[in-house]
This record gives sequence, structure tokens and C-alpha cells, in this order.
Amino acid sequence: MPLYDPVIYDRSLPVQSYWETTAQPPEYAPLNQLETCEVAVIGAGLTGLSAAWHLAQAGVEVAIVEPG
Ligand SMILES: Cc1cc2nc3c(=O)[nH]c(=O)nc-3n(C[C@H](O)[C@H](O)[C@H](O)COP(=O)(O)OP(=O)(O)OC[C@H]3O[C@@H](n4cnc5c(N)ncnc54)[C@H](O)[C@@H]3O)c2cc1C
Repeated sequence: MPLYDPVIYDRSLPVQSYWETTAQPPEYAPLNQLETCEVAVIGAGLTGLSAAWHLAQAGVEVAIVEPG
């Protein structure tokens, strides 16, 4: 009995991302007007999301900008 998912042992199968198959990111409207916030985080990568999360936890009004 294989230890891991069978896809790992068959190189002919595409390796699927767990995130891609399970995440359902919400749709956000494009930023086409002036918005105000205390801190704008440019880029929703690991660094940006972590910074935004910690700022929000501290009560800071934060907005994240990510190219569509
Ligand atoms: C193929 C690959 C596999 C990897 N595998 C692993 C792994 O298994 N484990 C691991 O720990 N690390 C892995 N890494 C490294 C990890 O992905 C990076 O270290 C990490 O994503 C860096 O985070 P970051 O927030 O600095 O940058 P990023 O995740 O690159 O985030 C930057 C964000 O800024 C956005 N952005 C860029 N320009 C603008 C702009 N002008 N305006 C607004 N937004 C903008 C981008 O769209 C992006 O969302 C991998 C990297 C790659 C490329």
C-alpha cells in the first residue's frame, strides 16, 4: 500500500496544487476610484498578506492592492 497519494508515484500525471483545487478566492471589484485607508499594502504575496493580517489584528485599517 503506497504511503502517499498515487499521483506522486506516476510521473505521467500532472501534480495538482492543493491550493488550486481547494481555494475559492473571492472576486473583488477593480480599484477604479480613490480609496482611503491607514496602510496600503502593495502585493498580496506571503509578505503582504502577513503584514496586512498583523496590521488588521492591531486595529489598523489596511487595504491590499493586487494586480488583476
Ligand atoms: C516555483 C516556486 C516554488 C516555490 N516553492 C516554495 C515552497 O515549496 N516553499 C516555500 O517556502 N517557498 C517556495 N517558494 C518561494 C515563495 O513562493 C516565496 O519566497 C514567497 O512567495 C515570497 O513572498 P513575497 O510576499 O515576498 O513575494 P510574492 O509571493 O511574489 O508576492 C508578491 C505579490 O506582489 C504582487 N505585485 C507585484 N507587483 C505588483 C504591483 N506593481 N502592484 C501590486 N501588486 C504587485 C504580485 O502579484 C504578488 O502577489 C517558491 C517560489 C517559486 C517561484
